[in-house]
Amino acid sequence: MTHSDVLIIGAGLSGLHAAGLLIDAYDVRVLEARERPGGRALSHAFANGDTVDLGGQWVGPGQDRLYALIKALGARTYPLWDEGDHLVAFSGRLRRYRGTIPSLPLHVLLDLNRLLARFEAMAKQLDPARPWAHPKATEWDRQTVGEFMARTGFTARAREMFAIAIGAVYCAEPHELSLLHALFYARAGRSLEALISVTGGAQQDRVHGDMGGLARAMADGLGGAVIYGAPVQALCWSDEGVSAQTPAGTFTARRAILALPPNQALGIRFDPPVPPTRDALWRRMPAGACIKCVAQYDRPFWREAGLSGQSVGGPAPVRVTFDNTQAGREAGQLLGFIEGDEARIWSGRDPMERRAAVLDSFAAVFGDAARHPLDYADQDWTAEPYTRGCYAAIMGPGVWTSLGARLRDPIGPIHVAGTETARDGYGYFEGALEAAERAADEVRAALNPPK
Ligand SMILES: Cc1cc2nc3c(=O)[nH]c(=O)nc-3n(C[C@H](O)[C@H](O)[C@H](O)COP(=O)(O)OP(=O)(O)OC[C@H]3O[C@@H](n4cnc5c(N)ncnc54)[C@H](O)[C@@H]3O)c2cc1C
Repeated sequence: MTHSDVLIIGAGLSGLHAAGLLIDAYDVRVLEARERPGGRALSHAFANGDTVDLGGQWVGPGQDRLYALIKALGARTYPLWDEGDHLVAFSGRLRRYRGTIPSLPLHVLLDLNRLLARFEAMAKQLDPARPWAHPKATEWDRQTVGEFMARTGFTARAREMFAIAIGAVYCAEPHELSLLHALFYARAGRSLEALISVTGGAQQDRVHGDMGGLARAMADGLGGAVIYGAPVQALCWSDEGVSAQTPAGTFTARRAILALPPNQALGIRFDPPVPPTRDALWRRMPAGACIKCVAQYDRPFWREAGLSGQSVGGPAPVRVTFDNTQAGREAGQLLGFIEGDEARIWSGRDPMERRAAVLDSFAAVFGDAARHPLDYADQDWTAEPYTRGCYAAIMGPGVWTSLGARLRDPIGPIHVAGTETARDGYGYFEGALEAAERAADEVRAALNPPK
């Protein structure tokens, strides 16, 4: 049995950051289920040595904690390739455009702009620390994003474009999402426009050495405090502290921080059980569904045709693409996401069949050359036992207003972190860091004075 002041459960960016904030003052252990740190940050090496993040990768304006962390670890960022024309598939044709909003027939464009403007105007009104407290919270939480779209958008094409944006941001279908949750998520990330934009938005920059490398550097900085292969199976707690059972042994501490997505917290047997409202909340916070797909080519051939590599609306399964070429490398990388229902369909399929379908989607937009990559990798996050979906947990109608106020409450000596408890940057690395700071403050206050 190992005793410490603080046990942190989960070595994603949230758990690692919380540990970094507490380790100078307290005896801290981090229990991690996997044999690696990073959770939803995961770096992959192609056969030629180039690398890519198969989990989260971007950082953009407003994500100040993440930029500060990158700097503190001595890493540097570089912009995602954002030059040339983007492509939108419309009525069987590809049209070129620049900026965030695709070039569409005027009536469709006006309709899409109205949908976006209405959504942004509502999101702006929310306090992301207390979305349930808005005077219209119940009204907005009763409806899905799909219902909002049906009521607000007149043209099928504008609704389809809006649905693609929703899929790209939430990894879910419009009919699965509470409107209040979608508005909260956008507000916590500045705005929906910021979340779908490249330059000036959440897809602006990448990190030399990848986000997976950043997570490894954070773990290395903790000097052996992280214990891998230690999935917490049971957590006993009382006013005196906690005792965590794992296949790597039993660990006790005065306080614990759960730095996990809600669906993973549900896999732990709590003794005594967590309050029923917390259990009900976690059960109503499933993760979105996404498969991240990257094809590597001898060069970024689409740039020769003046294309940016960004596209929207191409044929399923991949409806959104980016030029993900690593800075300073010759080989080009095309990145695509399979999201929502398509991800659920393709999750169980044969990997070679999935690869062929992804390359078909790429080829429909960028031509036949896209069918012949040097290398290919994809990551189905719904199939990952210690994640089970991404980018983050979603909420359907009624959850925020009936149970959401309990989301960040400690449970006895157990504090909660993880991006799903963030007030700022929910669903993003930024949120993982913000939640870690709040939980670390709570632990400091509870353990005061330090030993
Ligand atoms: C494909 C994809 C693309 C994304 N794109 C971006 C992006 O570009 N920019 C951005 O900011 N964000 C992005 N995100 C989201 C971002 O990755 C997450 O918000 C962030 O990594 C969450 O960190 P976390 O520490 O809260 O949770 P996690 O990273 O999920 O960490 C939780 C940790 O807990 C561990 N664990 C689970 N169960 C147990 C247990 N019982 N006992 C012990 N350990 C356990 C897990 O193994 C994991 O290491 C993306 C995510 C994905 C998957």
